[in-house]
Amino acid sequence: MRSLFLLVLSILFFSCGNKQNTENAAVLSDEIQNEFAIVLHGGAGTILRENMSDSMQNAYTQKLKEAISTGHQILADGGNALDAVAATINILEDSPLFNAGKGAVFTHEGRNELDASIMEGKNLNAGAVAGIRRIKNPINLARDVMEKSPHVMLYGNGAEEFARENGYEMTDTSYFFTQENYDRLQRIIHQNKTAFSETPENNNYKYGTVGCVALDKHGNIAAGTSTGGMTNKRWNRIGDSPIIGAGTYANNLTCGVSATGWGEKFIRSVAAYDISALMEYKGLSLQEAAHEVIHNKLPKMQGDGGIIAIDKYGNIVMEFNTPGMYRAAMNDKGELTVGLFENEE
Ligand code: ASP
Repeated sequence: MRSLFLLVLSILFFSCGNKQNTENAAVLSDEIQNEFAIVLHGGAGTILRENMSDSMQNAYTQKLKEAISTGHQILADGGNALDAVAATINILEDSPLFNAGKGAVFTHEGRNELDASIMEGKNLNAGAVAGIRRIKNPINLARDVMEKSPHVMLYGNGAEEFARENGYEMTDTSYFFTQENYDRLQRIIHQNKTAFSETPENNNYKYGTVGCVALDKHGNIAAGTSTGGMTNKRWNRIGDSPIIGAGTYANNLTCGVSATGWGEKFIRSVAAYDISALMEYKGLSLQEAAHEVIHNKLPKMQGDGGIIAIDKYGNIVMEFNTPGMYRAAMNDKGELTVGLFENEE
């Protein structure tokens, strides 16, 4: 009888103890790292120090800093994550350094066809545009699709008609001409390569898509991605960037993600959503989930590229499996991280 009493007592004691441990563990893992935070990428790929002049490195670094500081200021002032993401991406879209907006790469036919998407984590609202040719800042149009249309994704002429109805200026297509991108297309066509043979297999690919993820002071996460796609793409090819779940995803329960890399592989692996799903259903941390997708799942299908992400606690992740990724991040203390190559932090 006495031993039974002791047994009951010890069960009670241990179960209470365990409960407390569980709660403590929950408190620890739920700790807020940053009240607000922002992270961006300007593309991944064969970005090697030895191939880049000091002035080019400087130009990239300055533009990344300008973009991240703009978004950070919006968040520091109490603004919302969507505004921060759009403003940050606008700066990268307006620069010829990145494959988005002004610096969009050429299709096989010598055109520029732009894709973008944006998503809001608090209500899973999303907007996307694909194959647009006359809009300077596709991320703004993607946002308007989300906020002013009943649809998620608009394509081509219809997307531009929607833009016109919403007061967008129709930009002359010559705005998107850059000599460097044009020469790159000619090189690829000349070498008689297939559309995507300038890929990591011959070790010379540079993706230049831009993306941004932000967590605001109100606990909302937003993510956006904007791109010109891949050089020499044909047949109105659409990549992962405007596809919700592949190139962009945001959910306040887990994280926000923007991707860059070989789009077909990111579509097939539903990469951005997969990171969120690993967190939601398997309890992985953002770092673990990003690592699994970028270093395990994608490489199995030669999927090279990277992602940037922020979770609901303000943890920031920049993960890539290429020799480099243009990237920058800023936390709530205003601490800045900027990187171009591997192993910089
Ligand atoms: N992911 C983009 C695409 O496949 C390319 C890039 O990241 O630069 O369209």
